[in-house]
Amino acid sequence: MKKLLFLLFIPFVTFSQSTDGVDICLALQSNNFTTDAEAERALTRIMNASGLAKNFALIPCDNISNAVAVSYRGERYIIYDKKFMSLISSRTNDWSNLTILAHEVGHHLNGHSIDLSMAKIVEPKSLAEKRRQELEADEFAGFIMAKLGAPLSSVLSSISLITTDDDDTFSTHPKRSRRLERLRVGYNKEKEDKSLVNSKTETIKAVEKKIKSKLGTVDGTWNLIDYTDDPFGKIKYSSFIEGDNVSDIYEDKPILYFQKEVIDGWKFESPLIYISNFQNQIKKYLDFYSDTNWRNKIESYEKFFLKVYFTIAIDKDIILNHFFTIEESFENEKYLFDVKQKSMIIFDEGELIYLINKIKEGNQLYFKINKIGLSGQNKRSYNPKPREIESNEVENIIFKFNLKGSSNALRWIN
Ligand SMILES: [Zn+2]
Repeated sequence: MKKLLFLLFIPFVTFSQSTDGVDICLALQSNNFTTDAEAERALTRIMNASGLAKNFALIPCDNISNAVAVSYRGERYIIYDKKFMSLISSRTNDWSNLTILAHEVGHHLNGHSIDLSMAKIVEPKSLAEKRRQELEADEFAGFIMAKLGAPLSSVLSSISLITTDDDDTFSTHPKRSRRLERLRVGYNKEKEDKSLVNSKTETIKAVEKKIKSKLGTVDGTWNLIDYTDDPFGKIKYSSFIEGDNVSDIYEDKPILYFQKEVIDGWKFESPLIYISNFQNQIKKYLDFYSDTNWRNKIESYEKFFLKVYFTIAIDKDIILNHFFTIEESFENEKYLFDVKQKSMIIFDEGELIYLINKIKEGNQLYFKINKIGLSGQNKRSYNPKPREIESNEVENIIFKFNLKGSSNALRWIN
């Protein structure tokens, strides 16, 4: 056992002892290349799991008591001692040969192997650099072994056998605890990849279901739709929730939308926020004031706006006071306010981040319209900014949204 460990720590590039053996094997095998079907199958399994092309030659080489990744005159090789490999697997488990092979493949894929024909010219790597490369190869091996379905304990035990926990300061290989840790990192990375795939399937399921449930239900309150699979889709994500009237005067159920859109190929980094289905209340309000009446009242203005002032509270705290604007349009020889079914609310970035974070943490969101005001704009004046002409307090336009599940539904907003 002692001998086995010692030989494993022989680095293949700087010490001629093992490179000589490798050189001899390369020289012998390059003309009369014998393949080892079992090893080839193992390599194929590893490469299939990595999704990459197999562009290595496997060369069995007696008496090197090792497996090494080398390049020689531009070709990539994995050279291994067959007896050594079967010795390790007999002492550990059936997964060990694959783990060691995957580690060597990791060296090649991470570009660690120096061409042996160049080894005397290229500056030798520092010990610290070599130890770092060993850990990278271990992370790859852990990842591949998880993909192949190996139990973590089997992966760890094969590397555990060929390592020690001695101080590694003067060694090319890191000590056992560090190597096992990186194997674990690689192994878990694959598991995380899998859970990402799973969460995506769940998202698609939610789309299919299109659950719409009423305020107060515990599950399925929010709807999250992931459109990212559609390369031409204008909307990438949308999350929405149906709310409820607090006042009970109006019947419409408001909807709060969060949407990420791509407009003419320009990605909107911030989500857009809309509120819909409460506009009828504004229309009812407008019925009290004919727009022609307003126009007659103040003739000097050329253009009018409705400013809708609102407050957002989350749980018991008032989070924001804000307004949105409805523009006037001219239709059928009449001035009208273009009250669309969906109103976009424009926040500055700081407010938006603050609001989203509060929504993710909160339980209930209250949306209250406080005031509707009329503003006028006179282009001929020196100050073309709209000026408030009159405004009226509004009572009883309050909506409530359940925020349960919002952190999940809004997880695409960073
Ligand atoms: Zn290695």
